[in-house]
Amino acid sequence: MKRISIKTTQRKQAVDITNIVEKNIDIQNGIAVVYVPHTTAGVTINESYDKDVAFDLLNRLEELVPYSNNYRHLEGNSDAHIQASLIGSNVTIIIKDGKLKLGRWQGIFFMEFDGPRNREIYIKTMEG
Ligand code: ZN
Repeated sequence: MKRISIKTTQRKQAVDITNIVEKNIDIQNGIAVVYVPHTTAGVTINESYDKDVAFDLLNRLEELVPYSNNYRHLEGNSDAHIQASLIGSNVTIIIKDGKLKLGRWQGIFFMEFDGPRNREIYIKTMEG
């Protein structure tokens, strides 16, 4: 398993990590699991060609789960916890001939919901 460190720069941010993940693929064929070990960040696959898609995704998540909404959690970041659960903490990608078998317009995004912070991403590959 590989641990990758990334530093986010905003409270809400979608970071395209496709190239980082691809650089850390150490097998020719199989699957890669990209896992985010945080409760206020997640990972998702969506369009990376048009950057406005990630912007719209963050914007709409903000509307769906506002910062302040009579939450009980005392830390004051319940919006981030809920958004992270909606997005999820892992994605699985097929690896073919040493490359990620993503769709033409797809990219992998680290989704920060309570930054800026130092974060980690775990990548585990399995041959098959
Ligand atoms: Zn919290």
